[in-house]
Amino acid sequence: MDALAEINATTLFSSELLTLIIEAVSTAIIMVDKDGRIKLVNKHTEQLFGYTRQELIGELIDILVPYKFRVKHPELRQSYLHSHSTRPMGAGRDLFGLHKNGSEIPIEIGLNPIVTRAGTYIVSAIVDITERKRLEARFKATVESAPTAMLMINQAGTIVLVNKELEKMFGYERDKLLNNKVEALLPERYRNGHSNLRTQYFANPETRRMGVGRDLFGLHKQGHEFPIEIGLKPIEMDEGSFVLSAIVDISDRKMQAERREIEILQRANEALERSNIELQRFVYIASHDLQTPMRSIGNFADLLCNTYQNSLDNRAKDWLRRIKQSVTYLQTLVSDLLEYSRLDSQIHVFKFVSFQEIVDHAISLLDSVINDSNTEIICDKLPTIFGDRTLLVQLVVNLISNAIKYRCKKRPQIHISSQENEEEWLIMIKDNGIGIDKKYFQKIFEIFQRLHDHSTYQGTGIGLAVSRRVVILHHGRIWVESEPGLGSTFYFTIKKMTEEN
Ligand code: ADP
Repeated sequence: MDALAEINATTLFSSELLTLIIEAVSTAIIMVDKDGRIKLVNKHTEQLFGYTRQELIGELIDILVPYKFRVKHPELRQSYLHSHSTRPMGAGRDLFGLHKNGSEIPIEIGLNPIVTRAGTYIVSAIVDITERKRLEARFKATVESAPTAMLMINQAGTIVLVNKELEKMFGYERDKLLNNKVEALLPERYRNGHSNLRTQYFANPETRRMGVGRDLFGLHKQGHEFPIEIGLKPIEMDEGSFVLSAIVDISDRKMQAERREIEILQRANEALERSNIELQRFVYIASHDLQTPMRSIGNFADLLCNTYQNSLDNRAKDWLRRIKQSVTYLQTLVSDLLEYSRLDSQIHVFKFVSFQEIVDHAISLLDSVINDSNTEIICDKLPTIFGDRTLLVQLVVNLISNAIKYRCKKRPQIHISSQENEEEWLIMIKDNGIGIDKKYFQKIFEIFQRLHDHSTYQGTGIGLAVSRRVVILHHGRIWVESEPGLGSTFYFTIKKMTEEN
């Protein structure tokens, strides 16, 4: 609302009291008439501009306006006279007054029109902001000379201050940043959420690190992202609330940490590989050396059984049967161990092979087991994949023989199918057997891990460990999905061969 005040000396204050009040305030007060002639000044005006009251009264107000602004001043004065509003003068511009000694004083001016019976007057309240400007300049100089990139924004997220380091870090020149939104310096995916975070920060401003626990990234003018760390400091000024951010590019630090991590991993891998090779060599030698004495035990047990068949009583025959059973198990175990230990040492021949042919070969090797169990095997159209034929046959034999071995009362059915994505083939071998409890999904792929004893299902617990190794040698993954009583599906992926491989 326009402040239209009418001085009425009799009903409001005595003019003497009014003069005392005007003299007492620590703001310079000047009243001019509609032509811009000074009618009244207070003591503070004399102190601020260096003139005596007598020197000012009757003069045009322009005497206090620096020369460079004087030409426009009468026009501005006239337009204000017609607007009749109470407002600060020169919003958004820096204002200066002219001291008697010729120096310019940074000031802030509030304007009030006063309409009296004697005519319209304008009362200006003038504040000397030299000290504030000096502090502001010192603050800006400190920010500018800081060795860290710095940026100040207001509550709306508009950039109001940047320093040289920040220009360098983000590749922008200062004038492309000032008065623009800070979101331009963030990767696109963080922009939407940022204004919310900003509002939260201004609601609870404190000096702290930004995004603790999150990775922060800056967006360079040329479009690349870089990891950063940001410290925030709230700043209260006459113009409102601001936040000053100190930004550090941590690309080097991150790269060094990553390099250190890779080195540690590489060293651990090398050590693991060495011990694996030693272990495989040991398993190979031990298994190999066990074969001959084991064969002898088996042969002698046979000889004993055949030669002394009539002179052995039933107890002796039962013991001999158990010896032969154990020898058979040991022979399977040794041959499975040999198979496992050879996986990494044997030469692999990777080439394009028809997975259907692999499956056919595996089925022919398991012919008698399949017939004896009356197993039905259904194959969808299967792809050509890049792999080692021998290893893949071994893998399929393991999975099909397990599907048959762990069958339930129903007729065993096996369904082999495939799916393709950009990088790999997914092969699925589904059975209708006894199924596996979810808690063993990982465990069964470890060597010697069995879920049953020998009297229920025979086995060595090596088959799935071999299968996993074969899949890893093909840069794939293997896993199972199953429900007890409803059957299991074994999945494995085989990486596709591309030109980059
Ligand atoms: P093995 O068959 O010699 O015991 P594997 O390593 O081939 O050893 O399998 C580990 C365990 O995983 C098996 O003992 C069995 O309990 C379980 N298993 C493997 N395949 C199947 C399957 N198709 N259905 C149910 N259980 C299975």
